[in-house]
Amino acid sequence: MQPLLQNLAEMTTHRDHLRLEVSVLSTIFSLGRMLQVRSLELFSLAGTVRVRPRCWSEDGRIVCSPHEAAEDPNTMELEQMPELAQCIHERGASAQRSTRGEHVLWLPVWLGDHVATCLEVTRSQKITQHQHEVITGVFLVYQNYQSLLDYSERDALTGLLNRKTFDEQFARYSELPGSDKESGQWLAVIDIDHFKLVNDRYGHLYGDEVLILLANRLRAQFRSQDRIFRFGGEEFVVLLRSISLEHARAALERLRAAIEAHEFPQIGHITISIGFAAATPDTPVEIIGRADQALYHAKEHGRNQVRFYDDLVASGELQSKVAHSDIELF
Ligand code: GH3
Ligand code: MG
Ligand code: MG
Repeated sequence: MQPLLQNLAEMTTHRDHLRLEVSVLSTIFSLGRMLQVRSLELFSLAGTVRVRPRCWSEDGRIVCSPHEAAEDPNTMELEQMPELAQCIHERGASAQRSTRGEHVLWLPVWLGDHVATCLEVTRSQKITQHQHEVITGVFLVYQNYQSLLDYSERDALTGLLNRKTFDEQFARYSELPGSDKESGQWLAVIDIDHFKLVNDRYGHLYGDEVLILLANRLRAQFRSQDRIFRFGGEEFVVLLRSISLEHARAALERLRAAIEAHEFPQIGHITISIGFAAATPDTPVEIIGRADQALYHAKEHGRNQVRFYDDLVASGELQSKVAHSDIELF
């Protein structure tokens, strides 16, 4: 097989966004005569769109930043890259900049009407029409594949990551050696109170509206490094990362209060209950089990509250509930 086809075949074996990205960069780099190839991540921070290199070629290899976007020291505002900023503003397919000795091509990865990644190709010589076509061809295979991958990872109603993705990502996390796991990670299970009543009184469509609104609120409330999943029908899971216990608690409490205060069209007010636990180096089943026990405790003690597993154990409140919530599972 020709090297390019071989590379394309290799590229589409990956089910992981970052490995797929490394693979497309290495495919484009291997087309030859590149000064550098990079993937740029676009993200919002304090109301502005920022850009940071996520992976790049270095000494013939592709390397990736060890940082999360928000903590990466090597970021700039999108506006500092005017050609790319304009291209994204106009929903364009590509942008170029040519100065003496450096020719840059940007290819934003459009997923629906959103760009979170852009590939950047830098050469010392001008990119010919033929080279442009080859690079664009590779890029389109990558973009389509990326979009299929993204689609399979999300829930159709809310656009949040689905249960299958949670299982895969959390299984990967649990395979890391204990020392590689971040401290300050918390797993919260969020469940709408008496949601069956909403469906029964107003119908399924109104119920769906509540789910969409809650999903939007979750997206607005949490940061880019957190992960938000729709776990089941009216149950959501948030993995909060690199945050102190008190900040995690405050964020979840803000969410609870915001939902309680929100006036839903027709329906009026609903509430949510939240249980959370430390994402310790234990197995995902154990961590979810703890957050779930805290959630059940909240449900049994009036709903519309946030409960932390360790608090409940420390105060002795959970002991008597363990057997009870076990029974409820069946
Ligand atoms: P609790 O406060 O104890 O959580 O009570 P609940 O009524 O919220 O809990 P229960 O588990 O009894 O009911 C959950 C309901 O969620 C049942 C189902 O009608 C509804 N549901 C699940 N998935 C969807 C969905 O995709 N759309 C809508 N509209 N409703 C859903
Ligand atoms: Mg419920
Ligand atoms: Mg439920």
